[in-house]
Amino acid sequence: MNLKEYRQKRDFEGTSEPEGELGATVGSRFVVHKHQARHLHYDFRLEMGGLLKSWAVPKGVPLEPGVRRLAVQVEDHPIEYIDFAGVIPEGQYGAGTVEIWDRGQFELSRQAPGRLEFTLRGEKLSGDYVLIHTDGKNWLLIKRKAGTG
Ligand code: MN
Repeated sequence: MNLKEYRQKRDFEGTSEPEGELGATVGSRFVVHKHQARHLHYDFRLEMGGLLKSWAVPKGVPLEPGVRRLAVQVEDHPIEYIDFAGVIPEGQYGAGTVEIWDRGQFELSRQAPGRLEFTLRGEKLSGDYVLIHTDGKNWLLIKRKAGTG
C-alpha cells in the first residue's frame, strides 16, 4: 500500500487536497465523502494500515439491510484526507465539490481475501456491513441484518 497512484493523479499546486504521508498511527475511523464531480458519488474510506482504503459508491452507502451497492475500489488516500472538504478546481483530477457526508469509527470483525466485515458507528451510518470483492476493482457493499453472523 502506498500513495503513488494518489499522487500521480493530482497536481498539488492546483488542488487543496493533502499531498499526505503514510501514517504511522493505527486508527479505526471511517469517512464518507459526498463528491459532486462529473457524476455524483460517495467515497467510502476506511483507515487501515496507515492509509485510507477507498471505494467510490455511485449510489451511496446503504442505510437498509440487504441492499447491495456497487463499490469501485479507487487509489489509497492519505490519512489527512479524512478531514478534507472543499472544492477541487476545474481541470484538476476529480474536479467538483467534496463534503463530509458521514464519519465515525469502525470495528473490523473479519478480514479475508476479497472480504471485509466491519461495524460502523457514525452519525448517519451504523450497524454491520460487508464488502465483497467481485471482479477487477468492483466490490459489493452490503448492510447486514442485525444478528446475522
Ligand atoms: Mn470521488
